[in-house]
Amino acid sequence: MLSEFELIRKYFERAPRQARPGERSARGVALGIGDDAALLRPSAGMELAVSTDLLLEGRHFRAGADPRKLGHKVLAVNLSDMAAMGAAPRWATLAISLPAADEAWLDQFSKGFFALAERFGVELVGGDTTRGPLSLCVTILGEVPAGLALFRAGAGPGDDIWVSGELGGAALGLAKPEFAAAVKRLDEPEPRVELGERLRGIASAAIDVSDGFAQDLGHILERSAVGAIVEYERLPQPADVKRIQDKALQSRLVLSGGDDYELVFTAPQAARAEVTALSSELKLALSRVGSIQVGEPRLLVLDSQGRPMAVAHGFDHFQP
Ligand code: ADP
Ligand code: MG
Repeated sequence: MLSEFELIRKYFERAPRQARPGERSARGVALGIGDDAALLRPSAGMELAVSTDLLLEGRHFRAGADPRKLGHKVLAVNLSDMAAMGAAPRWATLAISLPAADEAWLDQFSKGFFALAERFGVELVGGDTTRGPLSLCVTILGEVPAGLALFRAGAGPGDDIWVSGELGGAALGLAKPEFAAAVKRLDEPEPRVELGERLRGIASAAIDVSDGFAQDLGHILERSAVGAIVEYERLPQPADVKRIQDKALQSRLVLSGGDDYELVFTAPQAARAEVTALSSELKLALSRVGSIQVGEPRLLVLDSQGRPMAVAHGFDHFQP
């Protein structure tokens, strides 16, 4: 059986990168894994964005879940928070509790984690490892030019409401495992990091969809003290969700399904052309689904006849 320190060295410590000419330290890491704390060198003029997400076996994923996909997902959900702030992800720490030092599991988990970390230039700079029920917790640190971060507050009356990608796929994957594309959405979400960074100076507010579109847009409305009208027919749905005959189930997946990790953002109408151009450039669908209203922080979703629809609550750990 591996010791704690062998395990960290073998699966989580990577050889330090060489600094490029002119760089003070490779990827802003003055000291990585191996000491009592990491030392980071944020770039001048940047604010640090810091966020943590915890995934627990039995709560966020089922026992026996594919370790490679877990490695991807635990980092992806954190990257998604950086995207929603308009921050560029740079460093991460990983706190993990494991029932046993299972090398096959660790090998796959670290492969999933580092494959995604590499794609976004994120360095793992520390963490903690203990024995216990399987739980995974990442803290991510990113940078955003001072004054340009995106907030939940900031949506103003008349602003358009936009959604990236598609909604409801992950929730379909959870409800019906026979839909392979939907299960992939659930297990291997694609964080919209590039979109988040490009929305600096364009979006008036942003959030990522982790608990369901209606609930997460609701957070923007609360924080911005505004209302919203959304046209259900405009909400982007994956083909498998569109084909669902049970319309109550379909609208529940689209409006209240969690785990899609798309971005919902608001922007002034004057930015429409800019958002559309960004969509082509990033090859990512950006759908204009409604508008921000004066008044109570209430969301009105209208069906194709213009009638208000019932909206189920999104996910809440402390509600039935
Ligand atoms: P301490 O006793 O100071 O808490 P540890 O012995 O727990 O330090 O960890 C040793 C080093 O390994 C530290 O630099 C820590 O940040 C790092 N580390 C521990 N676990 C992980 C992990 N799962 N992923 C990345 N780094 C880790
Ligand atoms: Mg420790």
